[in-house]
This record gives sequence, structure tokens and C-alpha cells, in this order.
Amino acid sequence: MRVARFYAPGDLRLEEAAEPEAGPGEVKIRVRNCSTCGTDVKIFNHGHHHLVPPRVIGHEIAGEVMVSNVDGWAAGDRVQVIAAVPCGECPDCSHGSMTVCPNQTSVGYHYDGGFAEYLVVPAAVLKVDGLNRIPDGVSFAEASIAEPLACVLNGQQLAGVGPGDDVVVVGAGPIGCLHVRLARSRGARRVFLADINRARLDMSAAVVAPDATICGYEVDTVDTVLKLTDGRGADVVITAAASGAAQQDAVLMTARSGRVSLFGGLPKDAPTISLNSNLVHYRELTLVGANGSSPAHNKRALELIASGQVPVLDLITHRLPLDGLFDALELVASGGAIKVTIEP
Ligand SMILES: [Zn+2]
Ligand SMILES: [Zn+2]
Repeated sequence: MRVARFYAPGDLRLEEAAEPEAGPGEVKIRVRNCSTCGTDVKIFNHGHHHLVPPRVIGHEIAGEVMVSNVDGWAAGDRVQVIAAVPCGECPDCSHGSMTVCPNQTSVGYHYDGGFAEYLVVPAAVLKVDGLNRIPDGVSFAEASIAEPLACVLNGQQLAGVGPGDDVVVVGAGPIGCLHVRLARSRGARRVFLADINRARLDMSAAVVAPDATICGYEVDTVDTVLKLTDGRGADVVITAAASGAAQQDAVLMTARSGRVSLFGGLPKDAPTISLNSNLVHYRELTLVGANGSSPAHNKRALELIASGQVPVLDLITHRLPLDGLFDALELVASGGAIKVTIEP
């Protein structure tokens, strides 16, 4: 079979590999869609500290069961696979905080991922109920978006996005688009989308139709949000961008008793920002993080897609075969696409 295997930063190879065999407690699937995201570009360029090469990458996976050694699953079942795999046993998992499990492993990092024709779903995934049935009416391509949507759902649950909120999403990539859509489904009053890249902002806004767009390259984002909210600020500001400046701005444009979601992480060599903590103190702001998603978030994401509450089909702007993976990564890196999915 064909796979995309990572060997070292800058060294990702499309090559032939033996088809994997499902062992006890495992399920083998034919990968139908594995979507790309910014993390794949990061891995390609810099590697990842959790990833021991050589490794087949790709972690937004949907496919069809070929062989099942697990009760409840059979050939032909349409499935979606979680990416982050909690241990299910530690104190954090026991308290329902599976997204911060310190023993977490990941598909595409610790186990071979979805940029391949076939994939064996590890027993560790099945153990935490991380293999999900794709609801009728949801395509494989849409189901592959459940994983990033699950991460977005985790972020908005932690930030308490709810009815009547004015929400600012900073970063108009695929994650930002999912944040806009999910915020609407949770009853947000208005959703504003900001980005410093005008072309990307316009492309995404044309699809997800925010109440206003803010190009941070042309106008001051904080001023604009304050104007749009009559000086109050937004109830929730979500930074879906690897930008310390965006995080600092977020605190300045959040309303009293508002929430700031530091959704996107910062580069590991520049994780420090400057924060006026008196704003947090006097305005009773809440700052929250977000780290991936739990198996339950993935199930809920599939339901949100199936019910039409969060449409994702129109976010998929490009479909490429596995041999087009390098073009796909270039598209992702350039911001010239919303979601690029690989159909191996
Ligand atoms: Zn991803
Ligand atoms: Zn755990």
C-alpha cells in the first residue's frame, strides 16, 4: 500500500509499505479520508517531540472497517477515529478531564496515522471508546472533520460560549471557521472574524458569513471590536492563531466577566506574553486553555455534523489523492485553502 511516512524534519516520503495486520483487540480500516491541518505542516517542517520517526502521519481519519478483532465492529462499518488517546485510568481521566491526560498518546505520533490506504486502529483507542460510528448521511470527508471540530467544541465548552454572547474569533483558518460555525450553533448573538491576512479572511468569511470581519493588517483589531460592541468588548475572544500579540490583544477587547480562550498554542521557544493582570482582576475575566479533545467530544462533533447544527461540507475546499500530499501541505501552509482532505 501507499503511505506518507515522516523520517525527519523536511523528510516526508510517499512510499510503499506492507499492509498492516490487525492484532487482538484491534480493527483494520480502509482509510477513505484523512484531512490535513496546520499541525501536519508543523510536523513536516520541524518534527514533533512526541513523534518518533519513522512514522506514518495524519490524524483526522475516517474510513471503513476491513477486519475486526473487536466485538461490536464488523467489516463494512463506517468509522471515525479519535486522534488524542487518553489512558482512561489516571486521576485526570477519572475526573473527566481526558484532554489533559498526562499519559496521552496520539494517532499519527505514537501509532501510524491516516495518510495511508490502510490503518490499524490501536487497542488503546478502542479501550477508551475512541472508534465512532459515522451517522447515516454523513460522508467520510465530513466525518474526518469531526476531530478538529471536537477540539473546537472542547475550547468553547471551557470558554462557556452560550446564548447572547458576542464572540470574536482571531484566526480565519479552518479552526477559526469551525469556531464561527459552532459559536452560532451555541446561540452566540454576533460572531466577528479577525485575521491579519486579508485574502484568507475574505475566503473564509465568504463561506462562514461572520457578522463582521476585521483585518488586523488594515485596522486596529482591539479598537474595531470595541467600536462594534459600543465600547463593551466581546463576551468571548478565541485566539485560533499561534500569535502572542493576538493573545495580548484578546485580553484588551474582552468585556467585563468575559472569557478568553487561548485556543492556539504559541511556538515553544516564545511562549511568554505580557498581560495587564489588573484587567483580569477588576473585570473578572477568565482565561482558559484548550488541549485537543476527548472521545466524548468526537462523538458529539459527529452528532453536530449529522444534525446540520455545524455544517462542514462547504469548508472542504480541496480533495487530493495521497500522492498529492505535498501539494496539500503547501496549500495549508499558504492559507490558500480552508480544509484540504486527502483521499488515499
Ligand atoms: Zn489536526
Ligand atoms: Zn489518563
